[in-house]
Amino acid sequence: MEFANKTKAIMKKNIVISSVLLFAIICMSSVCNNANGTKSKQQISAMENQTNKNPYYSRTDTTKLNVSNVEWKKVLSEDMYYVAREKGTERAFTGKYWETDELGTYYCAVCGNRLFVSESKFASSCGWPSFFEAVRKDAVEYHQDKSFGMIRTEVTCGRCESHLGHIFDDGPPPTGKRFCMNSIVLDFEPKK
Ligand SMILES: [Zn+2]
Repeated sequence: MEFANKTKAIMKKNIVISSVLLFAIICMSSVCNNANGTKSKQQISAMENQTNKNPYYSRTDTTKLNVSNVEWKKVLSEDMYYVAREKGTERAFTGKYWETDELGTYYCAVCGNRLFVSESKFASSCGWPSFFEAVRKDAVEYHQDKSFGMIRTEVTCGRCESHLGHIFDDGPPPTGKRFCMNSIVLDFEPKK
C-alpha cells in the first residue's frame, strides 16, 4: 500500500515537471517566433520597397536618377515623401533605427543606394541613427542649409538626391563627423 502511494507521488511529481518543461518550451518558442517576426518585418519592408510600386529602387543600379517630385509623390509613402522630398525631420527617438546595433548595411529607402555600414554607426544620444562616415565618397552629397536661422550642412542621397539628414562636427574618431540621419529614409539589411 505504502509502495503504491509512493509510486503515485512520484508519478504526480513527474507530471508536474513535464508540465513545467512543456510550458517553458512553449514560452521559449513564442519568444523565438517574435524575434523572427521582427526581423522578417524589416526584410519585408525592404522587399516591398524594391518590388512594390517604386520602379526606381535598385541596390545594383548606381545611375543617377532625375525624377520629379510629382512622380516621387506617386511612389513614396506620405511620411517618406515628407522627409525625403520636403526636407522634413522625424521626431527624435521615434525612428526605427536610432537604437539598432545589429551588423548590416543601410540603403537609401527611396532608391536603394548603399549609404552606410553598421561598422560606422555609433550610439548617439541625439535620438536619430548616427554614423561617422558614408560607405563611399559619392554615396552622399552635401549642401549648405540656412533654414531655421541656422547654418547647417544637409546630406542628400548621391543617387536620388533625397534629403537624408544633416552632418555635424561632433562625431567620434576617426572622422569626428556625425551623420545624423532620418530612419524613414533608410532601409537596413542585416548581415546574413
Ligand atoms: Zn536615394
